[in-house]
Amino acid sequence: APVIELDGVGKTYSSGAIEFEALRGIDLAIHQGEYVAIMGPSGSGKSTLMNILGCLDTLTVGEYRLAGENVGNLDEEDLAQIRNQRIGFVFQQFNLLPSLPSWRNVELPLVYGRVEKAERQRRAVAALERVGLADRVDNRPGELSGGQQQRVAVARALVGEPALILADEPTGNLDSVSTADVLALFDELHAQGRTIILITHELEVAQQASRIVWVRDGAIHSDSPSGRHGGPA
Ligand code: ADP
Ligand code: ADP
Repeated sequence: APVIELDGVGKTYSSGAIEFEALRGIDLAIHQGEYVAIMGPSGSGKSTLMNILGCLDTLTVGEYRLAGENVGNLDEEDLAQIRNQRIGFVFQQFNLLPSLPSWRNVELPLVYGRVEKAERQRRAVAALERVGLADRVDNRPGELSGGQQQRVAVARALVGEPALILADEPTGNLDSVSTADVLALFDELHAQGRTIILITHELEVAQQASRIVWVRDGAIHSDSPSGRHGGPA
């Protein structure tokens, strides 16, 4: 079964008498090991889709199964648990805690997951090694470049071995060198069989993925192999 299955998903925002259909009729299946970019102009519904995929927001109509589980009807507490156990998030703004050294930022998902302290530290350091930051485990975010901070964020996304890595404009705040760095890291993770969804409005970034889904006016406009990596796995 696919890691992600959206069937007829729609999202309507309402404030008072005014309703706005931000997503409609979204059918999307993503299998384990796929590297998918979601593209579209500003206002097309990318963030709304990302929030639904990330269990950060609920859908209005349709069905969403994540790793086989129907997450459409779960309450906030269950959604929080699903987010923590199944999804690794990477954001444009890194979202690191500035007062904590790298390894303490990386271990955070395991703190919520109630893993023992020594095991947390061991896994955090291993995740930092995987993103090439073995020599930065004790540095705070302010002592790292933007690219390095985003690699710490990727390590944090990986540490819990989630079913899915969801990255929202992960290179939006990076210069071209750091962008290449982070994209090379996603390539490696993809080669290791990780499932990655990358939301971006930059075509050059999207073309790193093996499949590109275009969203337009709240609907899927096209969905096709990017031509890279020989298409979807
Ligand atoms: P971006 O284009 O970078 O995704 P947006 O400006 O579309 O950002 O949205 C920023 C935030 O504001 C999002 O969390 C979105 O859900 C919210 N938002 C966007 N449009 C509206 C709106 N018309 N009313 C209320 N909230 C909105
Ligand atoms: P994108 O990320 O592609 O820029 P969004 O998902 O943020 O698009 O927004 C899609 C549409 O939904 C936009 O027209 C936006 O104004 C609207 N929207 C987003 N969030 C809200 C909200 N909380 N309330 C009302 N309208 C919203």
